[in-house]
Amino acid sequence: MDLFEYQGKQYFARYGIPVSPGGVARTVDEAVEQAEAAGYPVVVKAQVQVGGRGKAGGIKLAQDADEVRTHAGNILGMDIKGHTVEVLWIENASDIEEEYYASFTLDRAAKQHLLMLSAQGGVDIEEVAATDPDAIVKLHIDPVDGLSRDAVRQAAADGRIPERAVDGVADILVLLYRCFVDGDCDLAEINPLILKPTGEVHALDAKVSLDGNAAFRHPEWEEYGKTEVLDDREQMAKAKGLQYIGLDGSIGIIANGAGLAMSTLDVVNQVGGSAANFLDIGGGANADVMASALDVINHDENVRSIFVNIFGGITRGEEVAKGIVEGLSRVELRAPIVIRLDGTNAEEGRQIILDAGIPADKLISKPTMLEAAREAVRIANGSEGGA
Ligand code: GDP
Ligand code: MN
Repeated sequence: MDLFEYQGKQYFARYGIPVSPGGVARTVDEAVEQAEAAGYPVVVKAQVQVGGRGKAGGIKLAQDADEVRTHAGNILGMDIKGHTVEVLWIENASDIEEEYYASFTLDRAAKQHLLMLSAQGGVDIEEVAATDPDAIVKLHIDPVDGLSRDAVRQAAADGRIPERAVDGVADILVLLYRCFVDGDCDLAEINPLILKPTGEVHALDAKVSLDGNAAFRHPEWEEYGKTEVLDDREQMAKAKGLQYIGLDGSIGIIANGAGLAMSTLDVVNQVGGSAANFLDIGGGANADVMASALDVINHDENVRSIFVNIFGGITRGEEVAKGIVEGLSRVELRAPIVIRLDGTNAEEGRQIILDAGIPADKLISKPTMLEAAREAVRIANGSEGGA
């Protein structure tokens, strides 16, 4: 779950990370009110969950109320890479001497946390990563050992953070790591982390992504759910309690278990197709869940075939089959289903599908995952011209 900058900063503040005083505004008048409270000069900042707001004109300095009106008026409603600005964050402007970059993420392959730190932060960090990767220091952290202050200071030195900023940077990184771990973040990023002329170090931006699996121990996250940005498909799936991620391809995917769903995406890619989504109906899914899954996928206009890949364990073949029959009776599917049904009660499942007498242009059964993937790709690619 991605947070807006203002939510990320509030999250940081709980862990003692210094951020600028400010407030949220949804209208020009509110923007002026927040600016008066924060103290001039202020920065008027578009709140959208996409990077590069500064370059897109979504971040402006304002010296007085008139300038706040002008900028807030321009930025509210602005489109930034497909995201419409509905909320502003107004904060007291900082004097900047230098801009650094700092982030913590999980390096799954290494099974360790990863600190990335650079003295060349700011709006061009992607370019730095591409042209001068050595300017970004990477430090792996064993989650059991944690992060020592010495290790942080060393990383800061390696990252060519100037001596006078090292203590301030180290303080913040220790706090940011605590926020990342105790706060159950997938990502905690500060760009820019600034050095002020006064020598203080300070978080000027916040990019925080929370690990949804930890939501059960963070009742306070409920407020973020209300502002979560989901596309229509994702909203519908969430309402139905499905694990769904929208993608750009043309093959709808339904599988039981996250591992199988991911393998299904891989196999589809291998045989030349592209997935329209990731959908895990989970273990023990019943007919209703299956029917809901079909309904969600059916709302995706790009879908040209639907690949149902079930290896029954706790999930039983006959329930899956009933769900498909039910789904087909509930909605007119925009694309044919290709099914591979294996595992627990697969035989009964196949019989139910057979007995339902579903025509072959609506449902095709294949014995293996590979054959089913090929068929789904063949249909998806073949119908691309819309003939
Ligand atoms: P992003 O472009 O979406 O990453 O938005 P940021 O919040 O990182 O802001 C982009 C840039 O605007 C920063 O790198 C700063 O150079 C500038 N900026 C943001 N806040 C302030 C501020 O308080 N004072 C000054 N002088 N510049 C700021
Ligand atoms: Mn930024």
